[in-house]
Formats: sequence, C-alpha cells, structure tokens
Amino acid sequence: MTDLATHQAKLEGYLARFRDTGVLNQIGGEARAAISGESFDNHSPVDEGFICRVARSGAKDVDDAAKAARAAFPAWRDMQATDRKAILHRIADGIVARAEEIALCECWDTGQAYRFMSKAALRGAENFRFFADRALSARDGQALPSSTLINITTRVPIGPVGVITPWNTPFMLSTWKIAPALAAGCTVVHKPAEFSPITARILMEIAEEAGLPPGVWNLVNGFGEDAGKALTEHPDIKAIAFVGESKTGSMIMKQGADTLKRVHFELGGKNPVVVFEDADLDRALDAAIFMIYSLNGERCTSSSRLLIQDSVADDFLEKLTARVKNLKVGNPLDPATEIGPLIHKTHFDKVCSYFGKAVEGGATVAAGGARDGDKGWFVKPTLFTGATNDMAIAQEEIFGPVLTAIRFADEDEALNIANDIPYGLTGYVWTNDLTRALRFTEKLEAGMIWVNSENVRHLPTPFGGVKASGIGRDGGDWSFEFYMEQKHIGLATGQHHIPRLGA
Ligand code: NAD
Repeated sequence: MTDLATHQAKLEGYLARFRDTGVLNQIGGEARAAISGESFDNHSPVDEGFICRVARSGAKDVDDAAKAARAAFPAWRDMQATDRKAILHRIADGIVARAEEIALCECWDTGQAYRFMSKAALRGAENFRFFADRALSARDGQALPSSTLINITTRVPIGPVGVITPWNTPFMLSTWKIAPALAAGCTVVHKPAEFSPITARILMEIAEEAGLPPGVWNLVNGFGEDAGKALTEHPDIKAIAFVGESKTGSMIMKQGADTLKRVHFELGGKNPVVVFEDADLDRALDAAIFMIYSLNGERCTSSSRLLIQDSVADDFLEKLTARVKNLKVGNPLDPATEIGPLIHKTHFDKVCSYFGKAVEGGATVAAGGARDGDKGWFVKPTLFTGATNDMAIAQEEIFGPVLTAIRFADEDEALNIANDIPYGLTGYVWTNDLTRALRFTEKLEAGMIWVNSENVRHLPTPFGGVKASGIGRDGGDWSFEFYMEQKHIGLATGQHHIPRLGA
C-alpha cells in the first residue's frame, strides 16, 4: 500500500463518526447540536466531496456557551497554578497521542499538505507545554516601592474570553490562542472557522478527556456573521482574541464597542522578502520559495512580495521560475505533495482573479497563472515578474501560492517599496552587510523581521503585526498581558501626610 493509500484508509476511519453525528458544539461539557437544529454542510477542497454536517449556531447557543464559561470561571481562576499546569500538559500528551488523526483530518478539511500538517499537530502540543509551564508565573508582578508606600503589582485573569480562528492552519492557531488563555486562568468560548471545523472539535475532546473541567472551554460552531458576531457582542465575554482578515478585525472592533471589548488582532499580511546582491543567494532562494509556497501560500507570514536587487535579478528569477514550475501539486494526504488545494471555491475564485489582474496591470506570468486539474480547488504555483508596487498583485493579500517579484536598484528604493503597503506583519531581509541589516530592519515597518532566515518561531518572542496587520502581541509573557488585568496595590509603610479636609 502506498503512503497515500494508507493515509486515505486511516482518514476514512477517523471521519466515520463525523459522518454520523456531524460536528457538534460543546457547551458546559455537553456535546450539543445548535438550539435551532440547523446545520451546514462541510466539503473537502480536495475533491469537493461532502465530509459532514456542522452545527450552525446562533446567538442563543453563544449565550449558553458564554454563561457556561462565566459559571466555570471562578473555580478555574482559583485553581492552584500547578494543577492548571498538569491539566495543560495532559492536553499536550493527548494531542501527541492523536497527532496522526489531527494531521490527516486537517489535510482533508483544509487542503494543507501532510508534510506540513504532521508537524502542526506537534507544534500545537508544544504550545500547550510552553504555556503550561508559564502558568506558574502568570500572576507575577513587580515591587515598585516609593518613600511612603510599598507598591506591588499582580495580574488577574480578565474573565471568560472569546477566541475566533481562521481556516488556514486551524488546529495550530487554536492551540496558540487557547493555551495561554487557559494558563492565565481565563475560561474560553471558541468559534472556529466555518470552512475547517473538524480539528477544533478533536482538540476540545482531548482537553476534556485530559481533565479540563466542564465549561472551562466551550466550542460553538457556525458562521462569522451570526455565531462570531454574537460572541463579540456578548456582555459576559471580556476580550476577543481574533485571527483572520483585516476587514473582519475592523468589523469585530465595531461589534465589540458597546461592551467595551478588549481585542487582540492577528490579521492579514503582504510581506516583503528583500534580497540584496551581497546575500547568500542560494539560501535566500530556498527561503523565499518556502515562505510563499508552503501551506499553499495560505499563510499570514508568507513572503508574498519578492523584492530583488537589479544586479542579481535575472539569474535569481530564472532559478526561481524553474523551481516554481517544479513544485509538486497534489493530494494533500500524499507525503510527497508540496501544494494542495485552496480552502474553498470562493477563495479559489479570489486567487484566480489575480491571474487576469496581473496581465491587465502589465506584469508577466512567469509560472502558473491557471487552475490545476478540473476537480478540487487546485491552482498552479504562480510567479508574477515585471511587477511594480502600485499593482493589485503587489498591494493586496492574495493568500495563495502566488509570488509577486519586484526589482529595485538600491537600498532606499527597496525600503520605499517594502513600506509602501497597508500591511506590516513580517519582513525578511537577505544581506551579508551587518550595518545594512541593522539600518534596514530599523526602518522596515513590520512587527516581526527575520534577517537571513525564513520565519522560525521561538515561543517566548512577540508575534504580531503593525498597520493593518494587527493589534497586540502573542508569545511569552505578551499573551498574558492580553488575557490578564494588571492590578496595583499600594501599602503604606508609615504615617505619611494625608491632607485633612473639613477638619
Ligand atoms: P476571516 O476574517 O474571514 O475569518 C476568520 C474568522 O472570523 C472565522 O472564524 C469567521 O467565521 C469569523 N468571522 C467572520 N466575520 C465575523 C464577524 N463579523 N464577527 C465575528 N467573527 C467573524 O479570515 P479567514 O479567511 O478565515 O482567514 C484568512 C485570513 O486570516 C488572512 O487574511 C490571513 O492573513 C489571516 N491570518 C492572520 C494570521 C496572523 O497571525 N496575523 C494568522 C493566520 C491567518
């Protein structure tokens, strides 16, 4: 049996129960259909085939979930941090034990290739372990004594929080947002993306099997405009951690205004990879290809704009074109596949619309620029050359395996092009000139920058973007800053003067 056939057979086993029951909500420890009885169909992007039904929740379901999270909050907040730590580690153990199931279901539900998804499950477990260990120091503060007072700070969990996640790498992103919330002592209502609901349900089950008390984590499936919106408006939900498109972030900010929601936004990107003539060009080529063509290019941190210095551009682009044409598009369950299908038809249509726009704008389609096959939402890995920064293909987040190459003459021009964009999530700079690297990264408008490297995530470092790419940071202690309230307590050390009124 080939690896692909083995994976297909195992996947059928894993999906069988979802075909029977659909993907249910989990509220207060109970698996539940939507109160309205409504559901919607979930299809695979690989062959457009039906996978399962999914609970289509509305405001009433969200209200029940928020109430369950509120009821569970005091006990979870007050639990010994060592006990919280132990539960979070057991969740990580459960993820590792079911890593293959998670990986295969994620591939089929999202179209992401197995070679990346097999690691995504394990990275999710690492997220839980990292924040499990940090649960012990989550409440830590500072001593800031003055001449009359001992001032101390402490942190307390903000309360029940809403977590809203997208479809591109849903499992990993859910763990990334939910693990720190739980470690901080918050309870959670999670609304996963409607296009990729399966692994969020598996994750939830793992958590409760690991001993997470009922109601601490609640799962509500459904569409953004009803379940998602209701969550952002619910008065019991104190904060919304959101990962998704910039325009959705803007809607959530408006929806949350009446209840003064605290928001944390991880939004879109159109990230530059800037390659100078003095760089190690072979490594730069490998990294540029990896950062836009891995994960189907459906990656917020993708290097979707290649800025290449004129003096080395011809040779670099020739090698790049050959490599892009050689990328292996195929069934995401096949371990040899490098690029799978896009998540769904609407997104496929959006990505394909840029093939025409590129030509109309005067760019060259050096590779790809068309659908791949006639079943499933596959596109050929695409490279646009001869682009200028004012074109739609240079300015807009395409979110597919599509790279736009733009030439520059010198450092000033590279910086102008890199920053002339509404987004500011990541930047990648390739140069062997140290002072240039320092100068350039200082001026580059991005929340995260890697020099001579692809995106290598180190969990204690801050993750997030500037401009239209986000508000706030995740990672290390920054996650706790969001999920917790700072509290100051001043204790008088003596008999300092208190002004006497009406004496
Ligand atoms: P999306 O904004 O369409 O949806 C994300 C989630 O928001 C879904 O669960 C959706 O149901 C929900 N939603 C939609 N409308 C809502 C509303 N009015 N109120 C509340 N919730 C609502 O994003 P997507 O298409 O699923 O994901 C792709 C986007 O996510 C890209 O722009 C990508 O760059 C971004 N992303 C960013 C990061 C990051 O860390 N910066 C990471 C991954 C993805």
